[in-house]
Amino acid sequence: MENAHYEFAIVGGGPAGSACANALLLEGASSVLLVDRARFPRDKICGDGIGPGVIAILDALELGHILDGHRRVTQMVMTSPLGGRMTLNDNQIKNQSPLGYVIRRTEFDHALVNAAVHRGCADMTGWNLETVARADDRWRLDLTNSQNGEPCSVTADVLIGADGATSRVRRLLGQPFNHEKHVSVSMRILARTQPTFPARQELNVEEKLPIPGYAWNFATGSGTVNVGFICDTLTYKAHGRHLREILTTYKGLLPDTLAYDETTRHSQILPLASQMPPLAYPKVSAALIGDAASMINPLTGEGIFYGMEAGLKLGRGLASAEKTQEARARALVTYEREFRRTFTGHFRGNYYLRKLIEKPALFDRMLRAGSRNTDLCCDCIEYMMGNESGVGKKPLYELALRTMLA
Ligand SMILES: Cc1cc2nc3c(=O)[nH]c(=O)nc-3n(C[C@H](O)[C@H](O)[C@H](O)COP(=O)(O)OP(=O)(O)OC[C@H]3O[C@@H](n4cnc5c(N)ncnc54)[C@H](O)[C@@H]3O)c2cc1C
Repeated sequence: MENAHYEFAIVGGGPAGSACANALLLEGASSVLLVDRARFPRDKICGDGIGPGVIAILDALELGHILDGHRRVTQMVMTSPLGGRMTLNDNQIKNQSPLGYVIRRTEFDHALVNAAVHRGCADMTGWNLETVARADDRWRLDLTNSQNGEPCSVTADVLIGADGATSRVRRLLGQPFNHEKHVSVSMRILARTQPTFPARQELNVEEKLPIPGYAWNFATGSGTVNVGFICDTLTYKAHGRHLREILTTYKGLLPDTLAYDETTRHSQILPLASQMPPLAYPKVSAALIGDAASMINPLTGEGIFYGMEAGLKLGRGLASAEKTQEARARALVTYEREFRRTFTGHFRGNYYLRKLIEKPALFDRMLRAGSRNTDLCCDCIEYMMGNESGVGKKPLYELALRTMLA
C-alpha cells in the first residue's frame, strides 16, 4: 500500500464521502480511495432521521435496496411550548411526501461504504488521516492505522474532505471552524421499545426543558427510539446547564416504557450551513462535502441529505471530467456553483424560520394553523425537511402569509 497512487482520495466514509465514492465509481472512475479512521459498522451520533430527499439520491446511485426492510415514517408530530400541536400522517399527503425514514447509522453508513467497496473502491477504513501536503500537482496523505499506529502514505490527484464536523481536511485547507453563532450543540441516547411502535418522528419545543432548544424522539419502527436535544451554542453557554440534565428532563416527559441504553448517550457539535466555507479549491484540486463544509440545516440540524447530494454532484462532475487538472478544476467550480444554487435559499430560509420559531407565540401559531389545514402542515414540514425530489420551492413569505390567514 506504501506509495500507492489514486485519482481520488476521499477522507471520511460517512454518507457524504461514501455517496461521493459510489457516484465516482458508478460514473466510471476506477481509482478511488476511501479513508476513514473508523472501521464499519461504526456508530455516529445522530437523530437517525433520513430525509425524504435521500430516496432519490439512493436511486441515482442505484442503491435503493438499502432502504429495503426499513419502515417509512408514517407520522410526524411537532409541538410548541404553548400547547400547539401539528400532526402529519402519511395518508393525508397528496403530493410529494416530506416524510423519510429513521434508520440506525450503524446500518445505513455501513451499507453505503460496503456498496462503494463492492464497486471497486480501495478500502482504507481503520486508517486515520494525520496530515496532507501538496507537491508536484499531487496530494500526499499521511495516515496511521487506528489500531496499532502503523504509519502509511498514499498520493492522490484530487483530495475530497468528507471528514465530518471537526474536519481536519478543512483545517489543512486553511479554513477556520464556524463561528460559535453558527454552531449547535446536541446530545442523543437510544432506547428500546416494542417493535410494533410505528416509525414516526416527533419534535418538541418544550417549556419544561431547562433551556430553549428542541427535543426529539424518532422511532425506527423496528424497536429502537432515538431521543435527543439540540440548541445553539450561545444559548447553551448562557444558561450554564449540562446537556445531560436537559436530556434527563426530556426523558421524564416521554413514556416510561422506553428502555434507555446509557452507553449510547453522547454529545456532538453541528456546524450550521448559515456559515459555509468555500466548497471547491480548484487551484489545488480539492473539495469539501457534508459536515466538513458545514452542510447542516440551521433549523432542523439535518445534514445527511445535503452531504449525500453534495457527494453525488461532486462525484458525477469529477468522474465525467477529463483527467487533466484544468478539467477537474472546472468540475470543482461547477460543483460549488450548483450546490449553492440549489441550497443557498433553502438554508437561508430555514435560518430565518429558526429565528421566527425562537418566538414561542409565532411557532405556536404556525402549528395551530397547520393543525387546521393539512396542505399548510405538509408545506411547512416540506420547507424544513424537503421532499422526495429535494428541497421544496415555496417561498417563506407564502407560508407566513398562509399561517396568518389560516
Ligand atoms: C445529535 C445529532 C443529531 C443529528 N440528527 C440528524 C438527523 O436526524 N438527520 C440528519 O440528516 N442529520 C442529523 N445530524 C447531522 C448528521 O449526523 C450529519 O450531517 C451527517 O452525519 C454528515 O455526514 P458526513 O458524511 O458529512 O460526516 P460523518 O457522518 O460525520 O462522517 C465523517 C467520517 O469521517 C471520519 N473521520 C473524521 N476524521 C477523520 C480523520 N482524521 N481521518 C479519517 N477519517 C476521519 C469519521 O470517522 C466519520 O466516519 C445530527 C447530528 C447530531 C450531532
